[in-house]
Amino acid sequence: MSRDSQGRFWLTVLGAHTRLHSSLCAACPHHVAGCCSHPPPYDWADVARVLSLGGRPHLTASLAEGKLALVPTGLRFATPKRKDSPRAPRSARCVFLEASGCTLDAREKPAVCNYYACESALGGAPERNPHGGAPFVAYAAVRELWTRWTAEVAEAVRTAYPEGPEALDDALVTLLVTTYERLEREAGLSHLRPPPLRYER
Ligand code: SF4
Ligand code: SF4
Repeated sequence: MSRDSQGRFWLTVLGAHTRLHSSLCAACPHHVAGCCSHPPPYDWADVARVLSLGGRPHLTASLAEGKLALVPTGLRFATPKRKDSPRAPRSARCVFLEASGCTLDAREKPAVCNYYACESALGGAPERNPHGGAPFVAYAAVRELWTRWTAEVAEAVRTAYPEGPEALDDALVTLLVTTYERLEREAGLSHLRPPPLRYER
């Protein structure tokens, strides 16, 4: 899909791993750090997706470095304040956002970081959009799927850990991966998985 000469958006359709890209995000009209000024929750379903794709080393290292923190609902991004230029005020943003953009692989991010784009990024409200409501359809479909899975994975964790897990240990990793992969299988989406992450040793 393309928008106009000022901005473009396009989709990589991969089931729960769907990515929606917009050229407007690099010059976000809403905030100097775009959506990354308020990073989303890293819910248990997001953690499970990353683990299922081989991202445990990333999560473990980020927890050790304080870039991520364990909370009862999953993980939370650190949001240090930074300056964009010597005269600019310091403003908070996701710890993984650098001047060149997000430093994470799409397989390491919460799903919403991949599939979310605001109305402006999609070319404006449906009634004024040259493509009508079409750009919003993929977003709505992935959001609906992801909202359901977020609730299901959270329930599995709550049942196993009523007080909340204390560490991202083997037992929790196994619970998350088996729950997530079952959901993906039951939805008939396993064939849309991207290749697993590989880290240098
Ligand atoms: S989705 Fe919208 S608000 Fe978020 S970074 Fe892109 S243009 Fe900015
Ligand atoms: S993980 Fe990346 S895309 Fe998501 S909030 Fe952080 S910097 Fe932004």
